Amino acid sequence: MSKLTTTDHSRDSAGLAYVYPVISRRSGGLSIGVNLNPNNACNWRCVYCQVPNLVRGAAPEINPEQLENELRHLLNDVLRGDFFERYQLPADQRIIRDIAISGNGEPTSCRQFDAVVGAIGQACAEFDLFGALKLVLITNGSLISRPEVQRGLAHWSELGGEVWFKVDSATEAGLRRVNNVKLSPPAVKRHLEICARLCPTWIQTCFFAYDGAPPAETEQQAYLDFLAELQQREIPIEGVLLYGLARPSMQVEAPRLSALPLARLNQMRRQIEALGLKVRLNP
Ligand code: SF4
Repeated sequence: MSKLTTTDHSRDSAGLAYVYPVISRRSGGLSIGVNLNPNNACNWRCVYCQVPNLVRGAAPEINPEQLENELRHLLNDVLRGDFFERYQLPADQRIIRDIAISGNGEPTSCRQFDAVVGAIGQACAEFDLFGALKLVLITNGSLISRPEVQRGLAHWSELGGEVWFKVDSATEAGLRRVNNVKLSPPAVKRHLEICARLCPTWIQTCFFAYDGAPPAETEQQAYLDFLAELQQREIPIEGVLLYGLARPSMQVEAPRLSALPLARLNQMRRQIEALGLKVRLNP
């Protein structure tokens, strides 16, 4: 049996279709991932995306009952079985930090998204996990207008869940360059507002150098103005998760991307904090 490490983010470590265990640097313990995109399909193509063989598209039809059973099986193994022994986890990591809907593509493209939330809620209830771990949805937020997504988000909020909503740029050119999507910043703002009013929402931003250069001053200013407007309009954002380039991109642009110096990330952090927002930096 192999030992999970912080770099082992294999989706099939436990041989399950939708559910996978990860020792997460992000959460400092065991994170249980829920992957609704076993087909590696996303409606975006971010240049830093770590999904291998990423294709454009949507999540396939999934089986919420199977997902619930897989989650129940893994939770049982972790909480009542010998999972931690088998994977030789150090004592300080023998804890489930979170269940994250985060897979090989955009999870909200799953047409049964609300049923998925229900399945996760059911499994958590059986193991009495509410309040004991975090429930996180990682999304690009672009499909938030769909009724099943909004129903799912409202339920996610009731379960105590939160959303990490991707905003890498606040210009049309930046969104095209970084996320390979044709989307206007006002549309991103609209989606973000819908999301934040349904469920506690963090903005997740990846900040990196492209062809050796950090984002242009105009890009950075547009991003800060975007955040400032959210603040002015009292859109209830929890804060900003500011990421560097932690792991290698699996996209063709990979050789053109590089991490920014920590000082640069800290400078951005201070600028965001100056707007009155909390920042969690993950260099
Ligand atoms: S939204 Fe997520 S899954 Fe989709 S391309 Fe971007 S990083 Fe990859």
